[in-house]
Amino acid sequence: MFKYSDTNKRYYTLDYFYKHKFNSKVFKVSLNAGFTCPNKDGTVGINGCIYCSKSGSGEYAGDKNKDLITQFNEVKDMMLKKWPNAKYIGYFQANTNTYASVDVLKEKYETILSLPNVVGLNIATRSDAISEECLDYLEELNKRTFLTIELGLQTIHERTSILINRCHTLENFESMVKKLRKRNINVVVHIINGLPYETHDMMIETVKYLSNLDIQGIKIHALSILKGTRLADLYNESHFKVMDRSEYINTVCDQLEYLREDIVIHRLTGDPCVEDLIEPKWLINKTTILNDIDKEMKKRNSYQGIKCK
Ligand code: SF4
Repeated sequence: MFKYSDTNKRYYTLDYFYKHKFNSKVFKVSLNAGFTCPNKDGTVGINGCIYCSKSGSGEYAGDKNKDLITQFNEVKDMMLKKWPNAKYIGYFQANTNTYASVDVLKEKYETILSLPNVVGLNIATRSDAISEECLDYLEELNKRTFLTIELGLQTIHERTSILINRCHTLENFESMVKKLRKRNINVVVHIINGLPYETHDMMIETVKYLSNLDIQGIKIHALSILKGTRLADLYNESHFKVMDRSEYINTVCDQLEYLREDIVIHRLTGDPCVEDLIEPKWLINKTTILNDIDKEMKKRNSYQGIKCK
């Protein structure tokens, strides 16, 4: 049996991690704190990453027109019925959640932290959007709560990064991982499989690179082509190849084999807004994808990290 599992999973699930860390069911509550993004407003780029949705890649975050406490309580009240003793992590998800003055950040983060049964915060951001002053605040925050910074990387390949308009370098990303780890802050990295013109080997290289970095978690997304994005325009013009379902499952299993066994797997598919999804349609049925990843790992008699040494 895989070391970090008590349910026959062959990879280190977030459920397992939370259960053993907090001895309780833990829910992440996705929030929209009304931030924007330096890759949209001209600070580092304009128009954003080509796949970015109108919600700032925060499809299931709350409604930014509602205050944070209302957003939080709407989710919490639903969970309470089934899990009265659950604990919560506030997940600042939509857009770039360190892109404001430290005073503004403090006001937003502390609002959520002051709520009952909140045991931590996950903050999604870019590696080029955390100031030194912000790092100092995060270091102090990390001593008071379970803090995780989620950094978007998507790919290590410069050609792809330019094509998708990420507007930051791999060096910038790596330097921020080191700064956060120097302060003992947990880092979770987002990557995307199926980016235009990326090969299987390129996706494996991204994971091999991350496996050698001091990161604590990973989110593997499947590229979603959504209506109204520049990615959709590129797809309509060039019809770049979209990964099929079995290709995706095989790639994820290969990636799991190359990932260090202590890296927590926060996500293995995407969760796109169904009405906006152009391709791949197979992404809609998330549960069966996860089941088929389990089946494939079992068929291979494999587990996370088997090839990483
Ligand atoms: S960094 Fe995130 S929020 Fe900003 S444009 Fe890219 S995907 Fe959208």
